[in-house]
Amino acid sequence: MFDLVIKDAEIFDGAGSAPQHGDLGVTDGKIAAVGGKLGAAKQTVNADGLALMPGIIDGHTHYDAQITWDPFVDPSPALGVTTAVMGNCGFTIAPCKPADRDLTMRHLTHVEGMSLDALRAGIRWGFESFPQYLGMLEKQGVGPNVACYAGHSAIRTFVMGEEATQRTATDEEIGQMAAQVRQAMAAGAVGFASSTAEAHNGEGGTPMPSRLADDRELRALVKAMGESGRGVYMLTKGAKTSIPYLEGLAVEARRPVVIAALFHSNTNPTAAFTTLEQVNAARARGNQLVAQTSCCPLSMDFTFKSPYLFESMKSWKPAMAAHDPAALKAVYRDPAWRAAVRQELAASRGRLVFNGEWDKLFVVETARPENQAMEGSTLAELAKKAGKDPLDCILDVALSENLDTSFVAQLLHNDEKAVGKILADPDTHISLSDAGAHLTFFCDAGFGLHLMGHWSRELGVLDLPQAVHRLTGQPARLFGIKNRGLLREGHAADLMLFDPGTVARGPKRRAHDLPAGAARLTTSAIGLHGVWINGTKVADAKGLCADKAARPGEVLRAFEA
Ligand SMILES: [Zn+2]
Repeated sequence: MFDLVIKDAEIFDGAGSAPQHGDLGVTDGKIAAVGGKLGAAKQTVNADGLALMPGIIDGHTHYDAQITWDPFVDPSPALGVTTAVMGNCGFTIAPCKPADRDLTMRHLTHVEGMSLDALRAGIRWGFESFPQYLGMLEKQGVGPNVACYAGHSAIRTFVMGEEATQRTATDEEIGQMAAQVRQAMAAGAVGFASSTAEAHNGEGGTPMPSRLADDRELRALVKAMGESGRGVYMLTKGAKTSIPYLEGLAVEARRPVVIAALFHSNTNPTAAFTTLEQVNAARARGNQLVAQTSCCPLSMDFTFKSPYLFESMKSWKPAMAAHDPAALKAVYRDPAWRAAVRQELAASRGRLVFNGEWDKLFVVETARPENQAMEGSTLAELAKKAGKDPLDCILDVALSENLDTSFVAQLLHNDEKAVGKILADPDTHISLSDAGAHLTFFCDAGFGLHLMGHWSRELGVLDLPQAVHRLTGQPARLFGIKNRGLLREGHAADLMLFDPGTVARGPKRRAHDLPAGAARLTTSAIGLHGVWINGTKVADAKGLCADKAARPGEVLRAFEA
């Protein structure tokens, strides 16, 4: 007798094979039988021909802080994610000395898009070392399965304190950091994660600690990871770390290198393809480089109190120099200043962060009820309707609402032809949800549903068995996650039941449910009928349905070589 049988399903196995119609049986949290007609069970779910696949493995999350107060890491499990890889970019909270807690939180506040108050109110600090962190998660229990990176920035702060964001490390400090990496690998880290990306800054624009690492330090730490014979080196790449350089590290450590973030830019449309060619050439030489990309356009939420997408423009300087809201509004109202901005937009098109793509700029939320009808419209549409120039239109809307209107710009990764080409490359790792981070900025935790609904069903860029494989079997193999990612007898019963005809991610919405009442963006699933983690049902069509006390996930510690 099975514990659970899901009957009459289209079974997508996660390996990319064509679906097979049949039943799937679960006993003791593991898949006990796949296919055909199965017998009696304590519980039977009739799938009525819906699709059944392995749960999604989200390879790029930042739940390290959130999971200490929210073991179910909302919203990922209700979006089909049964395994979350945490600590990406090296932004972890372990190891951390008690005296450095505030420092560590200050580093995270900017990149995580969470206020210092929310982090202070939320994080449970029942640990100091990385092994103690894993131990604490195990003791409190986790909703989904989690795999944790040893994080460069946390390790650097642990060894160097305040100076971690100020200087290169001495030989002795590098030795201490390498010892921390070894300790984390021995405890069950999935690898070592770092960032050299110029965009990664902490509070007040301080660079994240790992950005101060020199070549000696990076080499030593990646090598320390490689000594374990396990793990992947994950890096969000800045200008200093070229693909050939990273290939060198992969060769030296004899381990895969996962490189984020492969985004297509309309401003520099060939760059992503050049990177992809370099990565694929390295693979052809037998060196395991993997480009991590996204299937969601990268959107930025902003208000005109700090519209960073314009702030790289020379003509924007007077606005940035304004010391108070009244002075800022005066700049925004000035017709001569507006003319200068318009002129620079026209003259520098293609070389700016925002290049006058007014059809990619949307109103998210208006402050005044009478403006609510604007929500969801593009600035191109609104300007046309008002008979105004788009720059005048957006500034006038913002000024009429005391600069509280929130806008979103979909600037990167929005050329569907180009992005489709990147996704169709069978070796790119589709992830970059950044779930748990940038919480006021975007929410791509539903990326898997978007891949299957938009890219597979609507655009046909990959067929559904391939889309499923890219979210399950492929990442399981990349990270060396044992007995997951495939619907095979003996594998963990991490399952997702869905309707291929409707599956999609829902619209973003704002929730005010972080510690200290802070806001974040979240989203719900469409076409999802059930999610099971190690055989326990955690979500249904309405969202998370797990018993609050249930903690079906596992802290993964043993990875394949
Ligand atoms: Zn990240």
